[in-house]
Amino acid sequence: MIIRKTRGQIEKMARAGEVVAGCLEMLRQGCRQGITTAELDEKAEKYIRKHRGIPTFKGYRGFPASICASPNEVVVHGIPGRYGLKDGDIVSLDVGVTLDGWVGDAAVTVAVGEPGQLALRLMEVTQASLMRAIAKSVPGNHLGDVSHAVEEYVEANGFAVVRTLVGHGIGRDMHEDPQIPNFGTPGDGPRLEAGMVFAIEPMVNAGTHRVVVGEDKWAISTADGSLSAHFEHTVAVMKDGPRILTLGGSGEAPGLGTALPLW
Ligand code: MG
Repeated sequence: MIIRKTRGQIEKMARAGEVVAGCLEMLRQGCRQGITTAELDEKAEKYIRKHRGIPTFKGYRGFPASICASPNEVVVHGIPGRYGLKDGDIVSLDVGVTLDGWVGDAAVTVAVGEPGQLALRLMEVTQASLMRAIAKSVPGNHLGDVSHAVEEYVEANGFAVVRTLVGHGIGRDMHEDPQIPNFGTPGDGPRLEAGMVFAIEPMVNAGTHRVVVGEDKWAISTADGSLSAHFEHTVAVMKDGPRILTLGGSGEAPGLGTALPLW
């Protein structure tokens, strides 16, 4: 069952989303050569707690850290550790914050130094596919329209969407109904209504869509070792259009302006 939120509840989720966005921006600026993903995790936890939030991921099904940090071929769920970022890396950072009982969830892929053209294009296409999906998150559309928007754009650009991992409804719990695949058929699935809130999160690979689970049982990587990117926002379906709850007070999540692009 998809739980619809009131305007007041969506405001509360936006407060959690602001902390997520601020944390991601702080991390983006900290992604310099030599810093370890464990250091990024430590900075994130401090930031979240300083803003009265709880790092939602910490302890979730035993996850040991506050953020997921997934470099290069790691798609999602990388456990922060001793890995030091290198010039040319890309690293996906995923942050969840619970504030006053409501959850915000967002992710960005960040370039370290000067990655190659393929990496930059992969990041651009993934981010643009997210914005296209957000633009479809309006009352009267169907969930399949949102999913299809990602798939269509990603595949037209020669990349592959991960099929075994999905976005999700979000609210008091990080993972609520519905599941939001990054592929689908327009017109399929539940009809969208005002008050629904989704974490939409394209995970896009430069090579095969297939993924493998690492020895730590958490990190998920591309099966062929190709690069992967991940962008995510928490988005409320409102009567007058989608509202991104993880843009932050400045209105600028990493790389994203306030206005939705006019596709
Ligand atoms: Mg998520």
